[in-house]
Amino acid sequence: MVAVTDQISCSHCGAPLPVQPGEILITCGYCGFTSVVETGKAFEFEHSLILNTIATDQTFEVVKGWMKNSFIAPKDLSKKSSVLEENLVYLPFWVVSGEASSHYKGIFERAAPAVEKEGDITNHYDWLVLARKETDFPTRSYHISLEGKIPFEATKIEKNAKVLNSELTSQDATQLAHDQISNLHQYLAKDRADKIVEINTNLNVSGAYYLHSAVWFITYAYKGKRFQVLMDGASEEIIKGDLPGEDFNVI
Ligand SMILES: [Zn+2]
Repeated sequence: MVAVTDQISCSHCGAPLPVQPGEILITCGYCGFTSVVETGKAFEFEHSLILNTIATDQTFEVVKGWMKNSFIAPKDLSKKSSVLEENLVYLPFWVVSGEASSHYKGIFERAAPAVEKEGDITNHYDWLVLARKETDFPTRSYHISLEGKIPFEATKIEKNAKVLNSELTSQDATQLAHDQISNLHQYLAKDRADKIVEINTNLNVSGAYYLHSAVWFITYAYKGKRFQVLMDGASEEIIKGDLPGEDFNVI
């Protein structure tokens, strides 16, 4: 393993690559080439990029529009709130493509008498896995703009943006995709047979690629308190946002 203070060099251009503990892949900020930290060798998967399209001074305008459309936000929120921080971060993801099929056996209890029921659930997925550990980023509710992806190019990334590296290998990501899809199929199966006795999910992976997507981490203040909003930099969609309730008052 590489220690905190160790540095490796980019296998493409030779630039030094500062390695953070836990990182598996590292993308060169100079040439954009991605290396595998442990071996120092070239990364063999496709690497894509979804660029930010919003200017820094426009991000809070989008957030204000979202505040105005909220039913629970205080009426004066968009007028009385002020922006504290706006950080553009390129988050790493794995996209695992494949066909998942589950066979389930269960008991349909809505009928009287209850009957045994079995069936199959089959779907194709481009399953998004956040390539970072220990984070509460809401991947499942994130509608990433995959149609806007381009090949990764370091020069297209804004100077003020931060690029995070992957802490997961493609195998880690594939395993996570399998587990998460199994959970989804279990949930879907419960809708068809109330009590699931047995379910097996098989994920036939056709490919995986690595991706960096632009996300704004915005902090705003309202009546002396801080709230966070995550916004997709390509679609301007609010991924997750904290709001003071309408009865919000400072004590
Ligand atoms: Zn390089």
